[in-house]
Amino acid sequence: MNNNLTLSRQTHRRIVIALSLILVGLMGAAYYWGGQIKISAKRDWHNHAAREVEGITNDALHSMSFFQSQLRGLSALFYASIHVSKDEFVDAITVLEGVNVSSPLGAWGLIQINTPKSGGNNHYRIIYSTENIGLLSEGTDLAPQNGMEATISRALSKPDTVVTGNAFIGPNGNRQVLFAVTVPHIGHRSVLFLSLNLDYFFKDLKSLHIPEGLNLRLSEAQQGQDRLNEGTPIIRHALTPQKPVQTIHLHTESGGIQWKFHWDVLPNYLGGPATALGNSIQWGGIVLGLLFYVFLMYLSKENFRVNQQVQERTSELNWALKAAEKANNMLKDLSLRDGLTNISNRRRFDEFLDQEWKSAIRHKGELSIILIDIDFFKLYNDTLGHTEGDECLKKVAFILQGRIERATDLVARYGGEEFICVLPNTSLAGAIVIGNKLRQAIADANICHPNSLVANYVTISLGVASLIPTSGQFPTKLIKNADENLYRAKNSGRNTLVG
Ligand code: GH3
Ligand code: MG
Ligand code: MG
Repeated sequence: MNNNLTLSRQTHRRIVIALSLILVGLMGAAYYWGGQIKISAKRDWHNHAAREVEGITNDALHSMSFFQSQLRGLSALFYASIHVSKDEFVDAITVLEGVNVSSPLGAWGLIQINTPKSGGNNHYRIIYSTENIGLLSEGTDLAPQNGMEATISRALSKPDTVVTGNAFIGPNGNRQVLFAVTVPHIGHRSVLFLSLNLDYFFKDLKSLHIPEGLNLRLSEAQQGQDRLNEGTPIIRHALTPQKPVQTIHLHTESGGIQWKFHWDVLPNYLGGPATALGNSIQWGGIVLGLLFYVFLMYLSKENFRVNQQVQERTSELNWALKAAEKANNMLKDLSLRDGLTNISNRRRFDEFLDQEWKSAIRHKGELSIILIDIDFFKLYNDTLGHTEGDECLKKVAFILQGRIERATDLVARYGGEEFICVLPNTSLAGAIVIGNKLRQAIADANICHPNSLVANYVTISLGVASLIPTSGQFPTKLIKNADENLYRAKNSGRNTLVG
């Protein structure tokens, strides 16, 4: 049974599906929105890194230019002198370093060029050096050093230019780069050079504020080829080998050399992309959605449970109602039945007569009754006992009930050993016919009545009355007429009918 207070199962299912779809939609929207915020945060982060590394790279290359101009200043000094002694060389450099730079970043040297030997290479010999180790030691012949020789040759071919040489690995394992310029020395063209330690150089760049999370790998690209294989970290990288989130490549040229700067942007750069908000929206949305879903499912389950309970209670109530109705009908039926004979009782008779009386008034129909009394029933009791008397009453009632033909007729126990029949729409003649049939049926039943003064079986006397009721009359009139006729029947010898 459907109840208006609860949703039908189908409606309920539709609502749950609709709400679930809305939740999934909201979770999707939160995920998308959070994702957009994260993408935008990452883009800002990358743009920031790109701007920053470009600035640092430019600063680095400006620093290199600064060293080149410093070297050019030194060459001017040497041009002024035909002969430079070692002490003068060192003094000149000391003066220059004192003036221009706070810390020496490379070794200074003066290279004498010997005239070509027959069949041999040029000889480039360091005659004065600020450093007395490795390649830059005084008296070192640079001819076998291809990289150096190439730089010296380039410097000699462009007298007014500071030439930047190749990068190379020094004796102590550091990466170094050469700057060279042609100067006169004892009437010859010589080369003044500066060896710049790239490792120191870029360590100094740290003081240019390379932020945490940016690592530099540097390579020199000469004639389109990477000399350093662009993979060897120069600073920090080896210490914190984190996987870069992004690598920014800057390909630039300075001092006649092409440099490749590879800036690895690590996740911890600037604290990483500001994705916390995006993450919160994404996961918060999903978690909230799931919580709502669980809540929804709980409500749905509860609703089903309540719905089921209501239905169970309703069917129980309906069942109880039906049972009560049945019991009520049974009670009503019982209250209208005679306890002994099981036919209608006096109360039922009163109701029925009243109802038929009114109906007859409306339809102007005839209404007949037959009042029946067992003859000498006192004697019956006296002779056979009260219990047999009761049995006799039951038999008589049963017979009378069985002989009443129309469904609209009624037989009732009127009281004691008296019965009454109500015959709606029946004329007096018809009622007399029925009454005689009843009298005959009782006689035919041959219920033994040893001491009856009429016969040796049970007999009845009947008083019949009939009329067309009119308003202003009462049913008692009909009963009174029947009673008078019964009285006459008794007086005329019993076992007879008067109507
Ligand atoms: P009459 O022919 O004049 O009607 O004589 P009667 O003896 O039948 O009439 P009376 O009124 O003198 O007696 C009626 C008797 O019916 C009295 C009573 O013992 C008996 N009686 C009335 N109700 C019952 C009953 O429910 N059971 C039994 N066993 N007897 C009843
Ligand atoms: Mg009587
Ligand atoms: Mg009697």
